[in-house]
Amino acid sequence: MGSRISFAENDFIYQKFVAWNKMENKYMEEAEQVLLHTYNRFRIVLDKGEGVYLYDVNGKKYLDFAAGIAVFALGYHNEKYNNALKHQIDKVIHTSNLYYNVPAIEAAKKITKASGMDRVFFTNSGTEAIEGALKLAKKYAYNRDGAADHEIIAMKHSFHGRSIGALSVTGNAHYQIPFQPLMSGIQFAEYNQLESVKALVNKKTCAIIMETVQGEGGIYPAKPEFIEGIRKICDENDILLILDEIQCGMGRTGTMFAYEAYGIEPDIVTVAKALGCGIPIGAFAAKERVANAMVPGDHGTTYGGNPLACAAANKVFELFEEENILENVKKVSAYLESRLDKLVEKYEFITERRGKGLMQGLVVTKPVSQIINRAIENGLLVISAGADVLRLVPPLIITEENVDDMIEILEKSFSCILNS
Ligand SMILES: *Cc1c(COP(=O)(O)O)cnc(C)c1O
Repeated sequence: MGSRISFAENDFIYQKFVAWNKMENKYMEEAEQVLLHTYNRFRIVLDKGEGVYLYDVNGKKYLDFAAGIAVFALGYHNEKYNNALKHQIDKVIHTSNLYYNVPAIEAAKKITKASGMDRVFFTNSGTEAIEGALKLAKKYAYNRDGAADHEIIAMKHSFHGRSIGALSVTGNAHYQIPFQPLMSGIQFAEYNQLESVKALVNKKTCAIIMETVQGEGGIYPAKPEFIEGIRKICDENDILLILDEIQCGMGRTGTMFAYEAYGIEPDIVTVAKALGCGIPIGAFAAKERVANAMVPGDHGTTYGGNPLACAAANKVFELFEEENILENVKKVSAYLESRLDKLVEKYEFITERRGKGLMQGLVVTKPVSQIINRAIENGLLVISAGADVLRLVPPLIITEENVDDMIEILEKSFSCILNS
């Protein structure tokens, strides 16, 4: 006997469904009235999360392979993480950098230990970490030769943020052109082409900045010979290597920092996104000889390193160990790669898989936004990286079953383009 829904009940459920949808539409209308139009948002209003799932205001469930753009590594509603935040809120949330606070000291120790760097400066975002790293590189070079015309080499198709400094080293003309003039002295090289970098090096070069795995630009991991070659150029010419690990760091590629797998270290590293797992915090960290170029008055921030944000980062590092996050990334990413490779074989419109660990991209020859919108309808959150790459950056706690579910929904979502 199947359960029967009476006409009255059916009508009640239908009315409720209509009411919910009206509410969701009202929120979205209001958003378009009051927020700057800097985003074309997907048409869902998210309400709460649990593990690897998010729920919208209608209660619809989504398997999340976006993690708030590679942020929520530990999954949603992690009780230990939430409790650590609640505990800190009840003690003190903000003190300013005029005084010391214990969570910041603890978090700095954890970052130096994990990164191989010696000193840390806390920021509120990835962009600010980039700003600080650029200033540190300039000050280091200024101390060395007193010149004020130093150059920085950045990469084409890179992404480092939206402020004027970070935008100046972001190799994307579309983002840059309306905001010129930007910071001067920036040269752009081809990523993964060492000769193109070598051609730009001169006496004024003070730093080379790059992502260890390019994220927004389309998920391109650095080739070992490229990153090793860059390290050598830097060593030979007293040029600083700034590795932007804001997206690829914090365990996403299977090691705490992606450069560990290459057996090299930067002089300055930037970190953010998963560092606070949702609480806004970033940092740049540097080797002692470099970090010492900054003295009181050179740099500052009101919020950076505040006890609440640092309590979040501390708990993130602790839970990475307790929950064996790196091991899970290694195990599940091998499975994810094999499943994605099968999609490349099976579908003609998927031409390539690129990525490392749980930072993967599928190159598609059909409109990626159509696939993403259909996936959302089917209860899966995925994002893009550039115009033709479907990006998968799930929470680092996902299981092989989650991967199976994701593949199933994704294949179902392909129907929208296969039938067109
Ligand atoms: C997201 C990102 C940034 C900017 O970080 P925000 O926190 O958005 O300011 C910089 N670099 C990379 C590689 C990123 O992925």
